[in-house]
Amino acid sequence: MAKIIRSKSATKPGAKKPGIPSSPGKPARKAGKPKAKSKAWTPAEIHEAFSRFRKANPEPKGELEHLNPYTLLVAVVLSAQATDAGVNKATRALFAVADTPEKMLELGEEKVREYIKTIGLYRNKAKNVIALSEKLITEFGGEVPRTRAEIETLPGAGRKTANVVLNMAYGEHTMAVDTHVFRVANRTGLAPGNTPLEVELGLEKVIPSEFMLHAHHWLILHGRYTCLARKPRCEVCLINDLCRWPEKTV
Ligand code: SF4
Repeated sequence: MAKIIRSKSATKPGAKKPGIPSSPGKPARKAGKPKAKSKAWTPAEIHEAFSRFRKANPEPKGELEHLNPYTLLVAVVLSAQATDAGVNKATRALFAVADTPEKMLELGEEKVREYIKTIGLYRNKAKNVIALSEKLITEFGGEVPRTRAEIETLPGAGRKTANVVLNMAYGEHTMAVDTHVFRVANRTGLAPGNTPLEVELGLEKVIPSEFMLHAHHWLILHGRYTCLARKPRCEVCLINDLCRWPEKTV
């Protein structure tokens, strides 16, 4: 039987994961965005920042438990507006009985709903899990496809889901922008943007390829545990000398 992949958190497992801008094209919250236009980072500064992230945490991992690309996809779909810890609690039992699209269909929507009823929007999410499993079987031979465009056609999966799956399951250099990445990119001045898509494309442009496999997780963990939304911990921040945020406290 496949082993559950449990990834490490930087400091606080179970910390609340705030909502994510739902659509890449939709204007998102501007929290942390510098008021004045700050000086762009130089390539040397960006290299230095990611070298520090790499030194501190060479193999950063996501916090959603999964067994294979399919269960990762399901976990990401379930994680919209929910904490990773909350999703993990529900999926441990669910994935023990259904870790393939075929088994999920066999289980049926009603039972899936029971397993995930502690997660917000569970009715709709159960519907999506069944519908996406059906589509994987009928259109993709039961496998999670390897292109963003194909993953985006699955019920409940958007661009961010596709980017997470492509990065974590298939090692692609994608940048999924959640609320943490969005805030960090804007505050630091690394890749300012008004929408997740703008930030995603900006980060892809400035981050050297050697860092792209892990950049998404470094930035998420940095936002989740250091560059906090309300009270950033600038005094212990690895990149506080490089950060452009005028309100940083060091
Ligand atoms: S210095 Fe402060 S605001 Fe800047 S990245 Fe670090 S924690 Fe965030």
